[in-house]
Amino acid sequence: MVIHDKVSIIPLGGLGEVGKNMTVIKVNQDLLIIDCGLMFPEDEMLGIDAVIPDITYLVENKNFIKGIVLTHGHEDHIGALPYILKELPLPVFGTPLTIALAQNKLKEQAIQSNATFHTLKPREIAKIGSFRVELIRLCHSIPDSTAVAIHTAAGTVFYTGDFKFDQTPVDGQLSDYYRLAQLGEKGVLALLSDSTGAERRGFTPSERAVYGKLEEIFRLSKGRIIITTFATSLYRIQQSFWVAAMYKRKIAIVSKSMRSVLEVAQQQGYLDVPAGLLVDPDQWHQWPNEQIVLLTTGHQGEPLSALTRGTLGDGRLSSYQRGDTVIISSSPHAGNQKLIGRTIDALARLGADVYHESASVHISGHASQEELKMMLNLIKPKYFIPIQGEYRMLVLHAKLAREVAVPEEIFLF
Ligand SMILES: [Zn+2]
Repeated sequence: MVIHDKVSIIPLGGLGEVGKNMTVIKVNQDLLIIDCGLMFPEDEMLGIDAVIPDITYLVENKNFIKGIVLTHGHEDHIGALPYILKELPLPVFGTPLTIALAQNKLKEQAIQSNATFHTLKPREIAKIGSFRVELIRLCHSIPDSTAVAIHTAAGTVFYTGDFKFDQTPVDGQLSDYYRLAQLGEKGVLALLSDSTGAERRGFTPSERAVYGKLEEIFRLSKGRIIITTFATSLYRIQQSFWVAAMYKRKIAIVSKSMRSVLEVAQQQGYLDVPAGLLVDPDQWHQWPNEQIVLLTTGHQGEPLSALTRGTLGDGRLSSYQRGDTVIISSSPHAGNQKLIGRTIDALARLGADVYHESASVHISGHASQEELKMMLNLIKPKYFIPIQGEYRMLVLHAKLAREVAVPEEIFLF
């Protein structure tokens, strides 16, 4: 008689919403948590800094939790760790950069926790309690991003995390197509796949395409250049560093959170900082406008961010001026378009030249429809669960799965 494991999948966040990704995989009694993200507050959430998943279920079942596995170092996948590890001091697993960023989060918030941190190499099979866990390299917008495969007696559960299939990644680390195909050939019980880009047709262009656009803007700019992006958009920041060095400009990193992330990335060997490129964020006024680049967050137009404060003539950027070039290198979170629009209007009124998403200064880190189909065709799951997206994206992703006719059954939460 063959005794199979009983596998349950319990989503605690990231379904029907973008952010606070957290999924629990239950095999028999044991629980394994995948990702531990926060969500950025929407514009009606006044006075709220961050939204985290409801962990009542975890607290009630804490004796059965074996650990937390992280897919990559973005806020919406690791941002809730300080809150959760304070209550549940669990072992945390991930690739080296992801773990270093997770540890940095706890340090920044001065959280005391007995949680332990463990780095895993892609393809290495780790035993975490009764779970056999494997990370598989996938491309995204930050290095060291992975999918998670949980091998059980009932079959493999495959969780993609955020991904795209970039054929020319900035760091040369391709998605592990061979391992994906191998797992698919062996048979995967369930695929949980990123739906963020499910509304976009075709393939997502390579992150490298941003380089040419940045280069063109740098060539035309006569004054200061201000670039805003996520603190963890490491490939974008890396490309900005290279273009700035080519145009002999200095970079001041105005945002404290970005400085902290970049320090970790550099220490871990994931960021190439050309010698003499960075200058003290308090000293950038010493350089002429045409020799300086200011790098900051505030791409979402948050009222207190460096970018928006700059439009009010307040904060480190000081006021914008005619001749400034502002590159908003990210896509707005749902619900934030109005704030961003207001910031762009204010910048334009002050005489700045503004480039945003429509000027190709941002490329998504998420797979479009053809890549999502490719993932389904490679993994060939028995069951399919679209995750990480607003409900309409999950529905569309389910439709794509029906088109490729791979899964026996599709579950929409
Ligand atoms: Zn991500």
